[in-house]
Amino acid sequence: MATKVVKFGGSSLADAKQIQKAAAIIKADPQRRYVVPSAPGKRFSKDIKVTDMLYTCYDLAEQGLDFSDALQAIRERYNDIITGLGMTFSLDDEFEEIAANFKKRAGKDYAASRGEYLNGKVIAAYLGFPFVDAAEVIFFQPDGSLNDEKTESVLRERLSTLEHAVVPGFYGCGADGYVKTFSRGGSDVTGSIVAGAVKASLYENWTDVSGCLVTDPRIVKNPEVIHTITYMELRELAYMGASVLHEDAIFPVRKAGIPINIRNTNRPEDDGTMIVEST
Ligand code: ADP
Ligand code: ASP
Ligand code: MG
Repeated sequence: MATKVVKFGGSSLADAKQIQKAAAIIKADPQRRYVVPSAPGKRFSKDIKVTDMLYTCYDLAEQGLDFSDALQAIRERYNDIITGLGMTFSLDDEFEEIAANFKKRAGKDYAASRGEYLNGKVIAAYLGFPFVDAAEVIFFQPDGSLNDEKTESVLRERLSTLEHAVVPGFYGCGADGYVKTFSRGGSDVTGSIVAGAVKASLYENWTDVSGCLVTDPRIVKNPEVIHTITYMELRELAYMGASVLHEDAIFPVRKAGIPINIRNTNRPEDDGTMIVEST
């Protein structure tokens, strides 16, 4: 059976209702075996992404200030999700550990990565899929770049034993053994790495627009969706400021000859954009 890797962005997983949409998409196709979630994003335009809440919270911890209210606000976001999904699932142990690690100054990257880590735990439990901590399968070099050889072999071996898995996006293990993140938007990169490692037939990137648009929808109203685009054309679009995908998400799938399909979690009936080598 062909395998698809599906990555869901922050707005696609911002609350229980969005996670239910993502779960329905995953369950609709048995080829969708490996899931890469982002941290919960914005539920409305003035909302704050969990990743940003974590950075702010850790800033307080680093300055030796009381961060309990800031951490409690993050906890409430997850509790709302868990209740909204009708689950009896607790993140109490995880939050206790996070608080202790913040006190020990575990690092800004560790702090930010907890958004994906916790969302991954919730989503894995909701789907009934095993959770694979990205810190155990994604590795960086001392210079901060991806250790692609080690990552590919460890990831491939680990996932070969699992029919399904949830691998949180955005982070991995630094050369010093501490958690390290990609740059912002980096869950796209994790999805691409997972797709490359399992030799997926397709990397589906689920977001809040129906594909790659001819211009930035935040600037021009209702721009047209591009049905098919090459990796090269996408890069040109990105140079002009169109940022639907992290630029480092291209290489791992392109190298393996895997197309990317940008899809809309809120309109799964739309075909989205296929990103391919050549048309
Ligand atoms: P996610 O949280 O799912 O990773 P992002 O916010 O990173 O989503 O990327 C999707 C957003 O990119 C869209 O909501 C849109 O506002 C913005 N965007 C900018 N330029 C483009 C473009 N040319 N095509 C599509 N989306 C674009
Ligand atoms: N949550 C991280 C960010 O906000 C990574 C991602 O969403 O891809 O940048
Ligand atoms: Mg993104």
